[in-house]
Amino acid sequence: MFVYKVCVGLLALLLLCSAQEDPLSRLSVGERLERVNSNAIRGVGEPELIEGDISVFDDNDRNADPCTSRGCMWPKSSDGKVYVPYVIANHYSDRERQLIQQGLDSFSSITCIRFIPRSNERDYISIESLNGCYSYIGRTGNAQTLSLARSGCIYYDTVQHELLHALGFNHEQTRSDRDSYIRVAWVNIMEGKEHNFNKKETLNQGTTYDYNSVMQYHKTAFSKNGLPTMIPIPDPNVPFETVCRVLKMAVFQVALGWISLEE
Ligand SMILES: [Zn+2]
Repeated sequence: MFVYKVCVGLLALLLLCSAQEDPLSRLSVGERLERVNSNAIRGVGEPELIEGDISVFDDNDRNADPCTSRGCMWPKSSDGKVYVPYVIANHYSDRERQLIQQGLDSFSSITCIRFIPRSNERDYISIESLNGCYSYIGRTGNAQTLSLARSGCIYYDTVQHELLHALGFNHEQTRSDRDSYIRVAWVNIMEGKEHNFNKKETLNQGTTYDYNSVMQYHKTAFSKNGLPTMIPIPDPNVPFETVCRVLKMAVFQVALGWISLEE
């Protein structure tokens, strides 16, 4: 009888744990973005998205990097820091707001970037829960929406990923130098999704391609058959590990990029 009770207890605990575990939390940031955004229905007035989560104003933006074509940097202050004002919409719960705040604050320990609550600045990031997770690339001028849907986007790495877009960073796989680091397997890409792998004239700031960047999509992104759409060169077995340590590397790249951009 005792053994029976222990077994039932353990089973109940197991069920409780698995019920509480969020299946999205186990995915890489790219997989999660693909899952959430492909299920999201675009609302009226929401921007068109390319590459899964990048907002664009019009078709001319599809292949251009707005940072090289029109300039998109947030200005550097005389104290050497880059202050980026933000507003968080009031429809988030305390817990969600806390997670978003952690993402915002994570940049300050290793970079010169400081996200600051907006007072009266003209240009700022407006963090809102719309349909999906997305952001414009770099500073657009005036209020710019960065959507973190309450359902599916409130994760530390997703918050960082979208903020990195708003700072001016593209996906790793669209970097101008990507062909030296990955081979795009066009044959495995879903029909109509090829544009997600168009290269951009990015400013790479002397940084090397980073397979582990939080901005690198997973190997089977936009795959039609489950086979890889991106294969590392020269060793095809190099993993893409978009986990913890990686966030630091990506953020470190921001710091490097920013410094060389401004000087
Ligand atoms: Zn993205």
